[in-house]
Amino acid sequence: LDRLRGRLSRSQSAVGKSLLGLLGGGDLDEESWEEVEDTLLIADLGTATTMKVVERLRQEMAARSVRTEAQARALLREVLVDELDPGMDRSIRALPHANHPAVLLVVGVNGTGKTTTTGKLARVLVADGRRVLLGAADTFRAAAADQLQTWGERVGADIVRGKEGGDPAAVAFDAVAKGAETGVDVVVVDTAGRLHTKTGLMDELGKVKRVIEKQAEVDEVLLVLDATVGQNGLTQARVFAEVVAITGVALTKLDGTAKGGIVFQVQHELGVPVKLVGLGEGPDDLAPFEPAAFVDALLG
Ligand code: GDP
Repeated sequence: LDRLRGRLSRSQSAVGKSLLGLLGGGDLDEESWEEVEDTLLIADLGTATTMKVVERLRQEMAARSVRTEAQARALLREVLVDELDPGMDRSIRALPHANHPAVLLVVGVNGTGKTTTTGKLARVLVADGRRVLLGAADTFRAAAADQLQTWGERVGADIVRGKEGGDPAAVAFDAVAKGAETGVDVVVVDTAGRLHTKTGLMDELGKVKRVIEKQAEVDEVLLVLDATVGQNGLTQARVFAEVVAITGVALTKLDGTAKGGIVFQVQHELGVPVKLVGLGEGPDDLAPFEPAAFVDALLG
């Protein structure tokens, strides 16, 4: 939690500072409200969320006669945390079934941090006492499978990989089959993400999921989004959501951006929770997403 705060606040406290500066004096004129609005938009909260937040702030500022920065902070915190729907289930569904392991699919565009996130997640699961098998279903880049293999060796997870250029769905199928055979708890499948061939990706990803479902249910489809690309991430999210039912989002590279507000938009757009955040390149730099801690970090 403190680590999250440290990492986030470095890049984002500017947002919190300007908001608290604006709201802390009470009685805002129209110009100041526009500044509040602009600050939220610049932080990537998106139009819909920004309008909702400003509306609530306007009502509550008056109702509670907010006059100090401490009061403004408490109000902002409450409104923003609420907007992140803290009641959503953000746990990773990784409990094995009677006759097959839990199956997690990791999807996303290349370069977002998909393989790194798969590796870090495996590490968390192994540390949690689960036996993990990795499936390298990105058969288009040998480097992707190599990278995943290195993670597997590092965290103590076996890996199933196919021939370069082979059928990704076949690798996914084999990984789940081997997982069931060897009695592992969780199979995490890393998929390919060449978004420039949209229909190809759709077909391929859909097939990967369908083929896995011949022998096991897919418990979790984690969409990996790069927080630094802003609105582009939302476009990506829409494309993936058309192909597979996303159950959670891992938002990476939050350490490198002041635009963490994208969290609000992603949840709003997909209707699924952000479950994990990436805070760096190291093996421990993956954290569960906690709305209250996130907002605290945002407010600095
Ligand atoms: P993939 O193509 O989506 O599988 O992406 P990779 O997992 O290879 O990651 C792409 C780059 O992003 C690598 O250099 C990673 O180390 C880096 N990366 C991944 N996650 C994070 C993160 O949370 N923060 C930072 N700063 N870098 C990250």
